[in-house]
Amino acid sequence: MMHRDEVRECGLAARDAREALERAEKATEGPWCIDHGRVRQYRPDLGLTIHDIASMSGSRSWAADAEFIAAARSDVPRLARAVIAVAELHRPVTAYPGGVKREVCEECHYPTQFGVAGAWPCATIRALSDALEVEA
Ligand SMILES: [Zn+2]
Repeated sequence: MMHRDEVRECGLAARDAREALERAEKATEGPWCIDHGRVRQYRPDLGLTIHDIASMSGSRSWAADAEFIAAARSDVPRLARAVIAVAELHRPVTAYPGGVKREVCEECHYPTQFGVAGAWPCATIRALSDALEVEA
């Protein structure tokens, strides 16, 4: 039997992603682009760049650095939202198979003849946590 009121937030991966998303949302609105050696805010509705974000002078690999910085403005929020979506889908819940309390993944658990499979943290959360180098 599953106790829905015991559903909890999935750990550090979601927290890290929310913090990254919050930092991105505080930064100058995107998209950003490269314009004459500078990373600039681009306004598609106006068809022009309007604010300097970073000047790339002095950097030996300025083109690659500028491309990375400009793309990060869009990449970070997209990837953070993906991590949050996965973490919200794979959350720990408490199950009592055979009267024994166990933590299982809300999304991945399923009943077996021996109780329930899908122990917490599930493979998805372990992979996500390993990639982000955080605890599941
Ligand atoms: Zn899962």
